[in-house]
Amino acid sequence: MGWDYDTQCKECGAKIRVTERPMGVPGGKEKEQAYCPKCNALVAEHMTDGFIDARLIQDESEE
Ligand SMILES: [Zn+2]
Repeated sequence: MGWDYDTQCKECGAKIRVTERPMGVPGGKEKEQAYCPKCNALVAEHMTDGFIDARLIQDESEE
């Protein structure tokens, strides 16, 4: 199973959900990066056998 957590972009302050998408490749672990969808800054870097996804969190409660 993959994992996910919430973080914040250091560059533009966007709230971001980082999600691992495991591919299940045996011995295929590599360092993968995820980038802010808004400003393209590096927001996450992890060892994974899949890849890492970064999405903006739409905060509906603060309007
Ligand atoms: Zn950003």
